[in-house]
Amino acid sequence: MFDTLSERLGGIFDGLTGRGALSEKDVNAALREIRVALLEADVALPVVKDFIDGVRNRAVGEEVIRSVKPGQQVIKIVYDALVDMLGGEEADTSLRIDSPPAIIMMAGLQGSGKTTTTGKLAKRLSEKDRKRVLLASLDTRRPAAMEQLAILADQCNENVSALPIIEGQLPADIARRALNAAKISGYDVLILDTAGRTTIDEQMMNEVAEIADIATPSETLLVADALTGQDAVETASRFHARLPLTGLVLTRMDGDGRGGAALSMRAVTGLPIKFMGVGEKLDGLDAFDAKRVAGRILG
Ligand code: GDP
Repeated sequence: MFDTLSERLGGIFDGLTGRGALSEKDVNAALREIRVALLEADVALPVVKDFIDGVRNRAVGEEVIRSVKPGQQVIKIVYDALVDMLGGEEADTSLRIDSPPAIIMMAGLQGSGKTTTTGKLAKRLSEKDRKRVLLASLDTRRPAAMEQLAILADQCNENVSALPIIEGQLPADIARRALNAAKISGYDVLILDTAGRTTIDEQMMNEVAEIADIATPSETLLVADALTGQDAVETASRFHARLPLTGLVLTRMDGDGRGGAALSMRAVTGLPIKFMGVGEKLDGLDAFDAKRVAGRILG
C-alpha cells in the first residue's frame, strides 16, 4: 500500500531539500506536484483540496521560505497534515466495550473481509483484553458464512465461541437469541456479523438497520476493502447515511493498492478508522495509528 505515492512524494521532497532557500514559487510548484500525486493515488478530490490548502496555509504561516532548512520544514508540514487527514494524533481508536455484554455490530459488503475481521477482533479482545467473546453470524443467505465464523471461533481460543446455528431462523431472531445467550452465559462481548451483499441494496440496509435497532450496539463498525479505492469511500458514506456507525475497519492494507481509500475515508465520512487488516491470518489486525501510517507514506 502507498508505494507509488511514497515514491512520488519522496521525489518531490528530494527536489526541495537538495537546495538552500526556497521561494514562494518553489513551494507552490511543490504543492502542485503533491496535489497530482494524491489524485493519482485515488484520494478524493475535496480531500486533496483541503489538504493542499491546509499545507499552503501552514507553510506561509510558518515562514518556510525564510527558514534555515525550508525543505525539511515542508516535509514536517506535510507529515502533520497527513496525520490530521488520517484522524489526528489523539484520535480515539479504542472500542467502547464497558458494560457486559458489550455489543459490536459488523457491517459491510460481501467480500470486504467482514467475517475474517470478526474473527480477528474476537482473538484480539480475548487475548489482549482478556474478554470472553461470543460471535454470531446473521448471514442467513449464505450458510457457508455461518460455518466460516464457527471455524474462526474454534481457531481463536477457549474464550471465544460461536452461537450454535439453528437453520431457518431470521436474522433479527438470531440477533435476539445471541443477545440472550450472551447475557445468560456472562459473555463480555457479543460480535454480530451481519449479512453483506456484493453491492448495496435496500433490503440489506433495512436488515442491518433493523438489527442495529434490536441490538443497540455500543460499536457499529463498517468493514471496507482498502483496495477498492473510491468505491470503498462511497460505500462507507452510504452505510453511514443509514446506520449509526461508530468507526471503520480498513482491510487488505497489506495489499498492493494506491491508498486513496485509506487517505480519504476519515475526511469524507468523519468516522475514525479504528483498525486495519494486514493479512489473512487471525493475527493480521492492527490498531489504526495515524502517525505510523503517515510515517510509512513519507518513508
Ligand atoms: P466477507 O464476505 O466480508 O465476510 O469477507 P471474508 O471475511 O470472507 O474475506 C474475504 C477474503 O478476504 C478472504 O479470503 C480473507 O482471507 C481475505 N481478507 C480479509 N481481510 C484481509 C486482510 O486484511 N488482508 C488480506 N490480504 N486478506 C484479507
